[in-house]
Amino acid sequence: MPILVMKFGGTSVATLDRIKRAAKRVGVEVAKGYDVIVIVSAMAGETNKLVGFVGETSPLYDAREYDAIVSSGENVTAGLMALTLQEMDVPARSWQGWQVPVSTNSAHSAARIEEIPTDNISSKFAEGMRVAVVAGFQGVSPEGRITTLGRGGSDTTAVAFAAAFGAERCDIYTDVDGVYTTDPRVSNKARKLEKIAFEEMLELASLGAKVLQTRSVELAMRYNVKLRVLSSFEEQSDEAGTLVCDEEEVMENRPVSGIAYSRDEAKMTLVSVADRPGIAASIFGPLAEAGVNVDMIIQNIAEEGRTDMTFSCPIDQVKRAEKALSEAKARGEINYHDLVADTEVAKVSAVGIGMRSQSGVAAKMFQTLRDEGINIKVIATSEIKISVLIDRKYMELAVQALHDAFELEKA
Ligand code: ASP
Ligand code: MG
Repeated sequence: MPILVMKFGGTSVATLDRIKRAAKRVGVEVAKGYDVIVIVSAMAGETNKLVGFVGETSPLYDAREYDAIVSSGENVTAGLMALTLQEMDVPARSWQGWQVPVSTNSAHSAARIEEIPTDNISSKFAEGMRVAVVAGFQGVSPEGRITTLGRGGSDTTAVAFAAAFGAERCDIYTDVDGVYTTDPRVSNKARKLEKIAFEEMLELASLGAKVLQTRSVELAMRYNVKLRVLSSFEEQSDEAGTLVCDEEEVMENRPVSGIAYSRDEAKMTLVSVADRPGIAASIFGPLAEAGVNVDMIIQNIAEEGRTDMTFSCPIDQVKRAEKALSEAKARGEINYHDLVADTEVAKVSAVGIGMRSQSGVAAKMFQTLRDEGINIKVIATSEIKISVLIDRKYMELAVQALHDAFELEKA
């Protein structure tokens, strides 16, 4: 029988009633003749609560125990979903990650899936089971310890199962009815997209859109998994939601498909560093070793052999960055007069595969921000995105103005 993967996010399994409702959706697909693999998140708020417990108990926690604790929310919903389906006379069974087993590497709290054997679940399907409910977000390391895939990781579990089982589709049920041109909470003109290309979704996800975990989009693109985002709160047809697919399948020809933002950015400037070969390596080497995710980088023109180096990173990594740089300074590897952190910035990005073939997108973006009197602090571009760092207090305004300028409300 054809296989469908259905993933239910935290809000879709937040209460017993909602689990029932999700189970009914599963029942509809079973009745159509699919064997279904259901991937569940923890009940909404549960993972945050567990993360809080860890921090309160041990500020410099052991990452293996973090994973043991934080993965547990999904165990509850997996069992409850299986029980609910059984109550509806749908043959169902639950699996925790290690039981499948979802093999990952040992990068605790950010593990990567290495293999998903299908024999275990497939043989149950062959025996008449119709739904395998799998706890999302979890795996098991080569050492046999429980791992987690990073926040939002059950999206990645779902796509990985769809790829491993050759599922016909991977449906991601969430609390919004699809992928929007921007966050509807920021612009009331945000429009739901019928289709979006993998690459655009990948950029939007990594630039701050929270609908899908970035890694899940990467996997879907690599294995060409037909990925759909839709709401678990509405009656659904087969065409509902947003399809994430190959760019050839996307008909709309527009320079920009979406505006993403990220509030949690910081800008750091090393004032007056020596302009010599190897200086960038000696700054960004220690930052990488300290696990700082550097995003945008600017090096100024040098004057009298000295220059300023500016970079952006997530706001919660500022302390770590400061420590890594001051240690490198103490070791004599770099020399700077001052290290200035600006933690009041946000990143706003325009994304679209149409940028490859249409010019003037950057100019239009900068003019729009100028017309609103918004100063740009850092710019970064790729083939299909333009990102700017601006004062956080103008973030909403920038998103709205850009959404208007690129007429994203129009199909
Ligand atoms: N429960 C995990 C989280 O909140 C994984 C997920 O929901 O995707 O991050
Ligand atoms: Mg999520």
